[in-house]
Amino acid sequence: MKLEQQPKVSLGFLPTPLQELTRLGKILNTPRIFIKRDDQTGLAFGGNKTRKLEYLLGDALNHGDIDTLITTGAVQSNHCRQTAAAAAKMGLRCELLLGGSQPNDLDGNTLLDYLLGANLHWTESNDSQLMLKDLAEKVRASGYKPYIIPYGASNPIGALGYVNAMIELIQQLQTLPSPIDYIIFASCSGGTQVGLQIGADFMNFKGQIIGISIDSDVSQKNKYQELLTNLANETCDLLQLPQTYHNQNFTVNYDYAKGYGVVGDLERNAILQLAQLEGILLDPVYTGRAFGGLLDLINKNFFKKEDSILFWHTGGSSALFPYREKLINEKLKGHPS
Ligand SMILES: *Cc1c(COP(=O)(O)O)cnc(C)c1O
Repeated sequence: MKLEQQPKVSLGFLPTPLQELTRLGKILNTPRIFIKRDDQTGLAFGGNKTRKLEYLLGDALNHGDIDTLITTGAVQSNHCRQTAAAAAKMGLRCELLLGGSQPNDLDGNTLLDYLLGANLHWTESNDSQLMLKDLAEKVRASGYKPYIIPYGASNPIGALGYVNAMIELIQQLQTLPSPIDYIIFASCSGGTQVGLQIGADFMNFKGQIIGISIDSDVSQKNKYQELLTNLANETCDLLQLPQTYHNQNFTVNYDYAKGYGVVGDLERNAILQLAQLEGILLDPVYTGRAFGGLLDLINKNFFKKEDSILFWHTGGSSALFPYREKLINEKLKGHPS
């Protein structure tokens, strides 16, 4: 596998910690749950995009004549915030195309985008892919040299961050008394899941890797499985790995995808439980939902009591603030038991 040969810059504090959720496990009577702290990658509040950006920035700088990063995402995109931070650290300009119209206040990630020096653009009701092209042309017309990073940093180069992360995890797991049976995490643009799966297969990891779908519901299942498969095969080409992936090689749970950024009881309770039992903050959009899904699967006896589960925390807690209303109101109605 040609991972070592890929150009890469150092942006994060790696390896990230691996911990056990001992109090949550005891109080909620769960199987053993471990947590991989990629919310602590260190780049301006951290998160999973840091690892992807290490390879993408490596590629960008390898092109030589790049001075501007362009990317796109939702208003509260963690990916855009980490891209803005990576640009600052590498001395590049950053243009962000955010979905929707300009909010009255900069808050959460948009405040951080601004502080990190990114120029913010809003899609309003326009097609984001067309606008992204437009933006790149405008940047070029102004005499700058852009490097375009796709939505979620999920292309074969970005996915390498999670191939590498899986190798990092396998080394950490050697210190645990028993093997990990399941890895659970939030899956949305696919780079994390693809990287983890390729890394797991390469390292002969025996556990199951299950993405909790955030944005694609069951009606979009085929499309998402195909996206994962295509991305995996392109990533294998880049790494000169011989295997071919198929849709059934990726396990995704679509049961919790009830609208992007919609915070309900599942997300809220998960956030409150982990905060109050372990002092760890999840985020409202991704990890709140994925950890909520994990707790629900435990309740439904999906796992055996003797299983060991690893929850991969992918970051995002800087988006808690703009979701305050959804989080506070319900908390006043009922404290988690
Ligand atoms: C982007 C993101 C994800 C999803 O990762 P993908 O590689 O896009 O599937 C999960 N959690 C958080 C906090 C994110 O920002």
